[in-house]
Amino acid sequence: MSIPSFDSPVVIHWFRRDLRWQDNRALHAALTSGLPVVPMFVFDKNILDRLDNPNDARVTFLHDRISQLQKEAGEHGGALFVTHGDPIQVLADLAVSGQVRAVYTNEDYEPYALTRDARVKADLEQHGVAFHTFTDHVIQAPGEVMKPDGTPYTVFTPFSKRWHLNLTAENMASAPSESHLGSLHNWTSSAVPLESMGFERSSISAPEAVLSKDVLAKYADLRDVPSVQGTSRLSVHLRFGTMSIREAAKAGFKHSEKWLTELIWRDFYQHIMHAFPHSMKDAFRPKYDLVPWRHDDEHFERWTQGKTGYPLVDAGMRELLATGFMHNRVRMVVASFFCKHLLLDWRLGERHFAAHLLDFELASNVGGWQWAAGSGCDAAPYFRVFNPTSQLQKFDRKYAYVKQWVPEWGTAAYPAPIVDHKMARQRAIDTYKAALSAAS
Ligand SMILES: Cc1cc2nc3c(=O)[nH]c(=O)nc-3n(C[C@H](O)[C@H](O)[C@H](O)COP(=O)(O)OP(=O)(O)OC[C@H]3O[C@@H](n4cnc5c(N)ncnc54)[C@H](O)[C@@H]3O)c2cc1C
Repeated sequence: MSIPSFDSPVVIHWFRRDLRWQDNRALHAALTSGLPVVPMFVFDKNILDRLDNPNDARVTFLHDRISQLQKEAGEHGGALFVTHGDPIQVLADLAVSGQVRAVYTNEDYEPYALTRDARVKADLEQHGVAFHTFTDHVIQAPGEVMKPDGTPYTVFTPFSKRWHLNLTAENMASAPSESHLGSLHNWTSSAVPLESMGFERSSISAPEAVLSKDVLAKYADLRDVPSVQGTSRLSVHLRFGTMSIREAAKAGFKHSEKWLTELIWRDFYQHIMHAFPHSMKDAFRPKYDLVPWRHDDEHFERWTQGKTGYPLVDAGMRELLATGFMHNRVRMVVASFFCKHLLLDWRLGERHFAAHLLDFELASNVGGWQWAAGSGCDAAPYFRVFNPTSQLQKFDRKYAYVKQWVPEWGTAAYPAPIVDHKMARQRAIDTYKAALSAAS
């Protein structure tokens, strides 16, 4: 890893979850700081070294996006500094190199990121380099939407009401960073090949970042139908910031209140993660950690492969493996099936999703899983056990989604159910009930 040296003072914009030139708060502040800007991206070894799959689709997505930003920086007379390493070390090295006056970046609320950023800030300040952070990944930052008594909300509906009441023009204001790209520092940089980091190109690609008015107009009616494109498919772009959350929310206000509510769920889970970081690993409601989860490698494997004998579950799991995406309704069904029908620990299912979802977002993923397990804030009650067959009849009546992903469904090659629904439902209710009543 070689650190660039500069002849005159510069400021850094550190790209993380905000991989775009337009409407980018921290980038805008850097570009209007009066000093030339060096944009930077670090392929973080601490994160990449934990990925088992050399074909990880997220790494390909990131790499493509960084290459594009690098090209576009060149078109504006600048360059993007890209490296592979530990960001704490990279920034410390840049600070000692002498010409960096400040680092600008957008906030990241994951526990790992908070620890990292606290360390970066302390290191930079030791060298007299300022560290400026901005709210950009969410509309209202953790800490901004609180109960009147100053404590965090743990139930969505009152959170959402307060979110609306609190909302200011400032929360929604665009930052016209794209109009100031003439302030990029004029120098050159080189790329980091995917292979040099131990990865290969994945065949899985993300959908384009298109905010379709047509999809939003029909969203309330079609959002639960997995066989049609009734949802925006923007999750990967909101995750990596290839679309601005403010642009998305403005479209929600204009075209679909229901869709806007989903964006508020996203804010809600970020607030929960920030206020209750323990819940990223443990049950939000501690007594749910007393549920005696089963250990069953065969059932786990058959769930991951989409071979449970429950067609909607299998279709969802195969869609995930093939595309890195799964429809929200189906995510709810497969997660419920995992925790309730199979009585497997939600953490194992959450990790499987984390390894395969292109849109993997810790806060939303854990939120969705703990909702399904019943252990989360504002979760489904433990005795609500989705029936995967009636969910199929309700949301994929003509089997269009099932036929797309499970071609052998309806033939002798399709497996029999791995658990009987009636037995599994009762087993889940009895097991949860016994564990929860022993805890109280
Ligand atoms: C078990 C489980 C795991 C999940 N894991 C993730 C995850 O890792 N990353 C992720 O972004 N979403 C996750 N979700 C939420 C949701 O399923 C996806 O955001 C959605 O399916 C993405 O498709 P879309 O972009 O077409 O969504 P749309 O329906 O078009 O919604 C627009 C945007 O709102 C946000 N959103 C929608 N639903 C939710 C929700 N329930 N919670 C939080 N944000 C939401 C997303 O950013 C989404 O792109 C999970 C849900 C469940 C039940």
